[in-house]
Amino acid sequence: MDPVPVVAGDAHRAHDPPYEVNYGEVVRPVYERVERAERIRDALAAAGHPLVEPAPHGIEPVLAVHEPGLLGFLEQGWAAWRADGGPEVLIPDSFPIPRLGRGGGRDLGGGVGRPGWFCFDTATPMVAGSFSAALAAADAALTAADLVAAGAAAAYALCRPPGHHAGPGYYGGFCFLNNAAIAARSLHRLGRVAVVDVDFHHGNGTQDVFWEDPEVLYVSLHGDPAGHYPHFTGAADETGGGAGAGTNRNLPLPDGTGDDEYLASLAEAMAVVAGFDPATLVVSAGFDTFAGDPIGAFQVTTGGFRRIGAALAAAGRPTVVVQEGGYAVEALGANALALLRGVQEGG
Ligand SMILES: [Zn+2]
Repeated sequence: MDPVPVVAGDAHRAHDPPYEVNYGEVVRPVYERVERAERIRDALAAAGHPLVEPAPHGIEPVLAVHEPGLLGFLEQGWAAWRADGGPEVLIPDSFPIPRLGRGGGRDLGGGVGRPGWFCFDTATPMVAGSFSAALAAADAALTAADLVAAGAAAAYALCRPPGHHAGPGYYGGFCFLNNAAIAARSLHRLGRVAVVDVDFHHGNGTQDVFWEDPEVLYVSLHGDPAGHYPHFTGAADETGGGAGAGTNRNLPLPDGTGDDEYLASLAEAMAVVAGFDPATLVVSAGFDTFAGDPIGAFQVTTGGFRRIGAALAAAGRPTVVVQEGGYAVEALGANALALLRGVQEGG
């Protein structure tokens, strides 16, 4: 296979929050930072991967996944927060959890109190440029999908901010728009789609988007949510609902999972993919499974990412690889390069 084209632009730099709040503590600098994408792009360009600028696709393909209310908030919520006296960094104060009480639990339009209606954690700070960066990340995913639809065996979208925690009407987990889900909906023009999520965390947003969709399979390998973010989804008994019953598969893995154990579980996931017989594959690629990652708990090596890439490509389907997490910044370039080498070898 030819070198995998890399869709990457500069618009992500507009999303550059100074801090986040994780488990009650201010984290500075943030994990999901500008340098991540710069490192990956530099490494892939130096290795000879052709760079492609993301093409604008407008809001329609985003609305195929996300509710208009969320998009309206992402576009205007920061300005409204500022107008109501909120600081430069928007982090929600209150969350309308379902058990809050009968009769209540509604969006009453409450100024600085409103963001918790749309955001489910304190780890996803929004700043003035967050929405434009998120739209550009979705455009990168859609551009990679177009390359594959036009005949490329594989394409890689360097999305930042990432996407797999963002659901139809909410954002969180460093994610604003679900780039992989947007790419999958776009690729559905070619037939059934399988989304394989190899980020360390469960892609709760992607699971939610396709929960009742029999045309899109979602398979995820991730740290056990009993001990890891996003804490409330990702158990093995979540298998889809309605017409989509049976098209969702979660494979939670124990802390310390290394290359061999990971590859064995991925083989199980790829057997499910083969049974689904998709026209195309979307990979939610996170490097927070890496042994040196500051928030993951697996022991996958750089060589392991090459094997993962080859296992994904062995499915023999046109493949869009979408960047998700990965926070061992110094290793990101080598890990992304290894994954794409594996995709080229296995395809
Ligand atoms: Zn992750």
